[in-house]
Amino acid sequence: MEGWKKNLREIEPYTPGEQPDKAGMIKLNTNENPYPPAPGVLKAIKEFSPDKLRLYPNAESLPIVEALAEFYGRKKEEIFVGVGSDDVLAVAYMALFNSDKPILFPDITYSFYDVWAELFRVPFRQIPLDENFRIRKEDYFIENGGVLLANPNAPTSVNESLENIEDIIKHNPDSVVIIDEAYVDFGGNTALPLIDKYDNLLIVQTFSKARSMAGMRVGYAIGNPELIRAMNDIKYSFNSYTMNLPALTFAVEAVKDRAYFTENINKIMETRSKTMEELKSLAFTFPDSKTNFLFITHEKCPAKDLFAALKNENIFVRYFNKPRIDNYLRVTIGTDEEMKTFVTFVKKYLTDNNYI
Ligand code: PMP
Repeated sequence: MEGWKKNLREIEPYTPGEQPDKAGMIKLNTNENPYPPAPGVLKAIKEFSPDKLRLYPNAESLPIVEALAEFYGRKKEEIFVGVGSDDVLAVAYMALFNSDKPILFPDITYSFYDVWAELFRVPFRQIPLDENFRIRKEDYFIENGGVLLANPNAPTSVNESLENIEDIIKHNPDSVVIIDEAYVDFGGNTALPLIDKYDNLLIVQTFSKARSMAGMRVGYAIGNPELIRAMNDIKYSFNSYTMNLPALTFAVEAVKDRAYFTENINKIMETRSKTMEELKSLAFTFPDSKTNFLFITHEKCPAKDLFAALKNENIFVRYFNKPRIDNYLRVTIGTDEEMKTFVTFVKKYLTDNNYI
């Protein structure tokens, strides 16, 4: 290769889910929340004065850090805030995964993990989940430069017990264990109670799912102050003002309204139960979900074909053309009405094609 082109970074990037914008579409492909953010957020948006935009925002993201500290009963030195948990995880890679040994994560998990490893030149090893998409905890009792687990996992929706998670943390005193809890609010078990016991544990969560604010881009990590300090040092070496003022202002309102948060989650979990029943009756199988999505497969109907048929109908779900999961669809839980439309179409499709 000639000249400046040889200096370009060639990397295979993460492919985010499609963001179509079609009238009447049913969007079940990127695990967004179908309900609006808390009423306090909407009020704060209406009252926000554009004059405030003249000034830089608080570099320490203090409004959200303090609101989260109060919500979780933690110290503010234990909390890091970033532009979605994607940003938080990227900073965590830079700050906490600096060993020559490989970091470990499952073969089927959030497909950004290997992209960051490549980007930051962190050696990594992908460990196969078992045939039920479960972690074999002993696989993580080996020498490593760090461990990263999504719990519940995506796109499988499988939740691991806190006992297994604790066992993995306990066996890794010499590396940082990150638990990505993007979906934990929908019935999973958070590792937060383990923070005081293990100083090598970092928990990452987000406003994108249970708090209905994917568009605002707010995520956070909770862990030992030493881990948080290392992450802040990276942040201030990169971009001091990651969190914009509207995000800092509005996200606080979402944290304050505990009742709305609970109500929102409960609605989604109820719709999830109903949808699971319906899909079972259509001969789909799927792991028990503790997330706001289902990971479904059908013995007769190829996932890829159903994906295309749904898309044609303006119903968007996610299909991963990857080993082991290329006959599955990941379906986000929408409103009751959206799920009814989804199930009705699927039933008709299966019937018309003699799959049921
Ligand atoms: N972790 C997992 C497991 C996810 O599925 C997602 C959503 N794509 C994220 C992290 C990132 O979410 P966000 O950046 O919106 O907080």
